[in-house]
Amino acid sequence: MAQVYNWQLGRRMEFPFEEHHPQWQFAFVFNINRCIGCQTCTMACKSTWTFSKGQEYMWWNNVESKPFGGYPQHWDAKLLAMLEEVNPSGQVWNAARKDPQKSPYGVFQGLTIFEAARRRVGPEGSQVALGYLPSDAEWRAPNIHEDTPQATIFNRDGQFGGEARLPEHRVWFFHLARICNHCTYPACLAACPRQAIYKRPEDGVVLIDQSRCRGYRKCVEGCPYKKALYRPTTRTSEKCVACYPRLEGRDPEITPDGVPVETRCMSACVGKIRLQGLVKIAEDGTWAKDPTNPLYFLIRERRVALPLYPQFGTEPNGFYIPPRWVPRGYLVQMFGPGVDHALEQYCCPDRELLAVLQLFRAQRHIIFRFAIEKGPKVAEVPVVLPSGKEVVQEIYNDTVIGFNKLGKEVVRITIEEPTFERPKELHLNAI
Ligand code: SF4
Ligand code: SF4
Repeated sequence: MAQVYNWQLGRRMEFPFEEHHPQWQFAFVFNINRCIGCQTCTMACKSTWTFSKGQEYMWWNNVESKPFGGYPQHWDAKLLAMLEEVNPSGQVWNAARKDPQKSPYGVFQGLTIFEAARRRVGPEGSQVALGYLPSDAEWRAPNIHEDTPQATIFNRDGQFGGEARLPEHRVWFFHLARICNHCTYPACLAACPRQAIYKRPEDGVVLIDQSRCRGYRKCVEGCPYKKALYRPTTRTSEKCVACYPRLEGRDPEITPDGVPVETRCMSACVGKIRLQGLVKIAEDGTWAKDPTNPLYFLIRERRVALPLYPQFGTEPNGFYIPPRWVPRGYLVQMFGPGVDHALEQYCCPDRELLAVLQLFRAQRHIIFRFAIEKGPKVAEVPVVLPSGKEVVQEIYNDTVIGFNKLGKEVVRITIEEPTFERPKELHLNAI
């Protein structure tokens, strides 16, 4: 096994291959606080890529209700239990050992799926990545337990219920939208005995070469997020392709000038929870400093968006702004020790962060750079932070501007939504 650096774990880790990094990396931020579970993203993907025979149970994009839902069922709880069994009480972080570039969340002291696999030798030897093959029954219901909350208390009448008051609701659930994370160290790729899976050097997108795949399903077993899926009609595995023709700007209808645009699931998002982009990767594999790239700003500068289950060790390139109302222990298990910092940032965003948050789903062109034009102060709002500290948020009517790959302005938004009065002489229904 080679040793590779995983910045999300703050340390080197074992991986079957030496480090090779793309020039750019496909990445995205989902703001869970905004997701309404409408499944428009899911259907946008299905109607584009997986509508054919044999793809009935393929949901490259899915949205599940946490804590009980999952596709396949219990995918995360099962793997967490397997890791715990291999390394009892050892899956812990040292959040004090932080470095803004090399270990922004601290250092993970437990075992990744690659490291744990070597400690668990079964009858067929050890796996490349600790994992399991879900049963057919587990794949059957893409949105099982939809909108089912977790609650541990009952109200005065003995009925199921409880308070909905921040910082943590006592009855809670949230929608978790998921696609392939196009991981830096993909377990699907590592587990494939045919070397049918590859990571593109130009944008870090992870693809399965259909001509090499023989349907052994090792990728399905190895992917900790269960985002490689098996198609029985062709006996091959398939997965999210990051809508790569759109990334390449090869859609003659919407990108005649060849600029990259966001994927279908991102473009269709009704709740405006999604911001997708490409981040520049330095030669050593770290993210090249680029504070005016909206994704770099949100993930590396403000650390308001966090990776999903970073402890699995694949260095996923999907990041989430955690839901404000959910018990912290659950969120820390899911997003690592950066949760408190992310929520403090999100609950009282500073001027620049508030401006960048407006860029979600504002334009289907991928935004490579933003700029902010300063406006007047329009409000002072008292805010209680999750820590209990009381602060005053100052809100300015700034304008955020987004630029595409060619440096062309493609979006301009003010913090205050402009209102227009229709002249009554022209509109019969004006009052
Ligand atoms: S999320 Fe799974 S399928 Fe996607 S790149 Fe990572 S390991 Fe592979
Ligand atoms: S379209 Fe957006 S809001 Fe609707 S379920 Fe998907 S991610 Fe959530």
